[in-house]
Amino acid sequence: YTAPSVMSMNGHFASVGNAPTKEQYEHGIQVIDEEKLFNPHLNTYLQLTKVAQSGFDYHLISVFGSQSTGKSTLLNNLFGTQFGVMSETERRQTTKGIWLSKNKREDIKAPESERMANNILVMDVEGTDGRERGEDQDFERKSALFALATSEVLIVNIWEHQVGLYQGANMGLLKTVFEVNLQLFLKDKQSNPRSLLFFVIRDHIGATPLANLRNTLLADLTNIWTSLSKPKGLEKSRIEDYFDFAFSALPHKILQPEKFVTEVEKLGTRFRRGQRAAKQHGLHTDHELDGGIFLDEYHRRIPADGFAKYAEGIWDQIVHNKDLDLPTQQELLAQFRCDEITREVLEEFDVAILPLEEEQAEGIRVGKLSVLKDLGNLGKVARLKTIKAFEVEASRYHKGVYARKRVELASKIDVRLKALYQGQLTAAHKTGVASFSDAVSSAVKAGQKKGALYEFADIVECEKKTALKHFEVEAKSLAIDGVPWTNFKSQYGLYEKDLDEVSATLRKEEMRRLATRVERWVRSRLGESVGLEFNKLGSGRGGHSVPEDSVKPATEKDLWDRIWNVFTTTVKEAETRFVERAKSFDASQDEIDVGLWRLRRKSWGVLRAKVDEEVMEGNILLKLRENFEDKFRYDEAGVPRIWRPTDDIEGLYTKAKDSTLALIPLLSRFRLAATYGPPDLPEWIGSTPSSVDPKDEEDLTPIGGVDEEEGKSLEEEMTVLSEAKRQDLVVRFKKTADGVYVEAKRSAIGGVAQ
Ligand code: GDP
Ligand code: MG
Repeated sequence: YTAPSVMSMNGHFASVGNAPTKEQYEHGIQVIDEEKLFNPHLNTYLQLTKVAQSGFDYHLISVFGSQSTGKSTLLNNLFGTQFGVMSETERRQTTKGIWLSKNKREDIKAPESERMANNILVMDVEGTDGRERGEDQDFERKSALFALATSEVLIVNIWEHQVGLYQGANMGLLKTVFEVNLQLFLKDKQSNPRSLLFFVIRDHIGATPLANLRNTLLADLTNIWTSLSKPKGLEKSRIEDYFDFAFSALPHKILQPEKFVTEVEKLGTRFRRGQRAAKQHGLHTDHELDGGIFLDEYHRRIPADGFAKYAEGIWDQIVHNKDLDLPTQQELLAQFRCDEITREVLEEFDVAILPLEEEQAEGIRVGKLSVLKDLGNLGKVARLKTIKAFEVEASRYHKGVYARKRVELASKIDVRLKALYQGQLTAAHKTGVASFSDAVSSAVKAGQKKGALYEFADIVECEKKTALKHFEVEAKSLAIDGVPWTNFKSQYGLYEKDLDEVSATLRKEEMRRLATRVERWVRSRLGESVGLEFNKLGSGRGGHSVPEDSVKPATEKDLWDRIWNVFTTTVKEAETRFVERAKSFDASQDEIDVGLWRLRRKSWGVLRAKVDEEVMEGNILLKLRENFEDKFRYDEAGVPRIWRPTDDIEGLYTKAKDSTLALIPLLSRFRLAATYGPPDLPEWIGSTPSSVDPKDEEDLTPIGGVDEEEGKSLEEEMTVLSEAKRQDLVVRFKKTADGVYVEAKRSAIGGVAQ
């Protein structure tokens, strides 16, 4: 407990600066001192005596009466309090200001029907004869106002011999009470709380029955009320609109000590909670209130934990002669207390939530988002507990203020939880997408290892389901019933969209892998079949040896037609394979179109490389030599010639040589026989699909005539041997041919020599 501001203190209270202890409050607590200062430790007292925790289950009684009429003595006997009492020898005022003490007799074992109410607080108000305060009526008025604003029961202590003395000091006091009451409730017409005026008649001799005394008092009270000048609007009000009355008489304490004690005991049993016996209003007799005197309607409805603050506010208004406005005071109190309670419950909330916030912040700081364990449950419980704790304490205060502050608290909590939950979902999102991507990749890898034809679309679908489920479970665990912002449908939607984007990327990669496989296949097929076509050059007979030549025979002239044909057929087949497979993993038509376009381009590259390989110096020279030798050394029937000196070796040589030399221009350009021009490569490759992203296609080699901006024409693309290479080849071939010729010549001569 921290004491409220002690600015107004004048050092009068011994406890200022130190934490007050229970022992210091033996005699109760002086709420208001002689200097009219309010004691800032009242709440401490209420805490120490456990009243503060009682909610509405407490009662406030004040006692009024002339000085030295045995008020403090009565309270001490009734409630076991230890208010200061005037000693028999010094006739001096003892009670100064207003003292308050908790009933010390409530724990006394008594039958249920006689047991005192819980948490009775008794206020002993300074006597009002004004002997030591001169004729200053100010304090009397102020303390009456204070007592009325707070107390349920006002005990009016009066000697029997004072009854009926209309001019007596007591009546002056009552007049003040009534006036003050009218002033007080002028502003508080709705709640209009009633109080009980409990007359305790002291030194009752017994000659006049209580009933008579009661009637006399009631008549006097009515007179006083009538004589009051009432504020506007309340002219017609009656005394019974504000007060109930009860009466009790006690014997002389000194003369009849035992009887005094038993009667006080009896009186004590009336300080219980009770209900009004009859519904009708009017002046209530002792009999009607025979049960407990604490009726609910007397209660000021200030929660015990706010009482000190409320009383302080009331006293402040009174001391500064401001019009007391109880509803406003109650609202102010509600605001103050609700704020205080909010702070308290938020401290508990912090204990639960701060570590989570710190863990999350740390994760963000080191760039490692992690999903906090059990966050939904922890958050939900903390939220519920905090709001519940607030409700228990704060709901006793002004309804409107309470409702508003509850909303404020909820939004304070929700701001914190929202940040946490967003962070949590971001983490769930990021880790979910990452593990989805990993899972798909490793399933694909596993599929590849097994060599099986794994179904990419199935893998994606299955892993997506798992990933969505994970996220959904997390998002659902964060949901709180009746809290709309905890519905995370849109985040779920974003997550699914991201998964789809990742799937698309993975599918693209998968497409690339497929493309690579198909390209490899194309490469190996072309390697074989194109190689074969070039090998045919070596035979030099260009298919002449095929016996049944009914169909158009393959000739050296249509080499390129055959290659083009083999090429396009192979690629066609590859395309079919590609499309089939791509469709199996849900590739879009766009993606397929791009894939095919790439495949054709790459395949052309493969072919081009293969052709280059075939016409490499050594290779092509060998082929030409074979071609030439075939023509030169074999006769039309394919039988090897045995050279004789008579043979026209030179003629055959020239013929074969020219025939082979004629191949060189043919080989130099990729030309189709029919058009004597290059194949329509741009047409065959097709236009670039619109969805192609140039960034993705950096691995593609430019093709002359297709990629015009490369500045290479189709003619150049189709040039297999450059002019220089051609010349060089002719020279080299001739040398080789000459060698063969010389050899043939030699063998012809040698054959004869043998
Ligand atoms: P207070 O000023 O009203 O609080 O009065 P106190 O309780 O201090 O008592 C004032 C004097 O009245 C003391 O000397 C008491 O002994 C005496 N006294 C207390 N009770 C009674 C009573 O019932 N009858 C009479 N005659 N004297 C009492
Ligand atoms: Mg006293």
